[in-house]
Amino acid sequence: MYYFDNAATTRVLPQAAEAAVDCMTQTYGNPSSLHRMGVQAEQVISRARRALAGVLGCREGEVYFTSGATESSNIALLGAAQAKRRAGNKILTTQIEHASVSHTMQELARRGFCIVEIPSRGGKYHAEDFLQAADEQTILVSCMYVNNETGLILPVNEIASGLKARFPNALMHVDAVQAFCKLPFRVGTLGADLVSVSAHKIHGPKGIGALYVKSGIKLPSHSFGGKHEKGLRPGTEAAPSIAAFGVAAAQMSERIEQNAALYQSLNHQLRGSLGSLPGIEFNSPADGAPHILSLSAVGVRSEIMLHFLESKGFCVSSGSACSKGAKSGVLPALGLSKAREDSAIRVSFSHENTAQQAALLCEAIEQGLRSILRAGSSNIR
Ligand code: PLP
Repeated sequence: MYYFDNAATTRVLPQAAEAAVDCMTQTYGNPSSLHRMGVQAEQVISRARRALAGVLGCREGEVYFTSGATESSNIALLGAAQAKRRAGNKILTTQIEHASVSHTMQELARRGFCIVEIPSRGGKYHAEDFLQAADEQTILVSCMYVNNETGLILPVNEIASGLKARFPNALMHVDAVQAFCKLPFRVGTLGADLVSVSAHKIHGPKGIGALYVKSGIKLPSHSFGGKHEKGLRPGTEAAPSIAAFGVAAAQMSERIEQNAALYQSLNHQLRGSLGSLPGIEFNSPADGAPHILSLSAVGVRSEIMLHFLESKGFCVSSGSACSKGAKSGVLPALGLSKAREDSAIRVSFSHENTAQQAALLCEAIEQGLRSILRAGSSNIR
């Protein structure tokens, strides 16, 4: 198979897998145990925390390991809302967040918070729209950095700096899952208080992520147990996965520029080869993060194209993998038509993809278009 679904998940780097196996079979002590095996396991976690802190540009004590970005964002948003409850009840977000944020926002609305979804304008998000909506009641803003369906880059830096200038006590959360190790950001320059990242999008294992919490911010925990991760995320640490996450983050952060150049050239190649085909429209902005390219063969349902491509040996995604084919509403929220959403497929690259694979993918898409339209079974009514 040719794998072009790297925004859904990625193959684990061999060195990351080795680190996990080593931790499972050699340094397998409980990191809380006082004996030597426990200390060794604790050292494995410290090393990974140091690696993550290095890549994020923060202190080690500001990195909390979680079970993934979903849990990171749950901890961040529920905790921030609870911590700031007395200061106000307004929370700003976008209409295109991943379910891990949007569904947590729905829960916060049920708990009485006023959730304001800032709309896009001209297919983009504008910092001034957030800043106009912010007021004395605003306690939290949550905005993703790179949209997982289109690669759209949101102006999180400007939102954070504008917010802090006027309302220094309001907190800024950034879901940076699709930006981490893709864009060269540091949490300091981002200006965020809380940042969610995940290992499996950067060639680490699934089920492990991290939350950056700026020092000085006290988040109440919403799960209870031991003192792991300073009580914010109790439960014996997943040391093997943490070890692998540390290795993946260190390695992928070294290759950001080199990989970005590859993604850019694969992205251009697809745009160039497919752009002239009748009915093909690109849903990703030209200045988006280049590892994600969403396109629609208008008139051909996403699922039908996806299965055609799969039959030819290509893995791509329809919209976002997280919604199992269900439409998320992200493309209409970016001003694109329902017909575009119904026919969207997402191609997403990793460093393992080549120009030759991309050329074969283009041929397969073209072939799919011809044969599906000829069969006429997929016309969207
Ligand atoms: N946020 C974004 C933008 C994502 O793309 C994803 C994964 O698809 C997540 C959050 C959730 O990450 P995890 O699978 O680690 O919970």
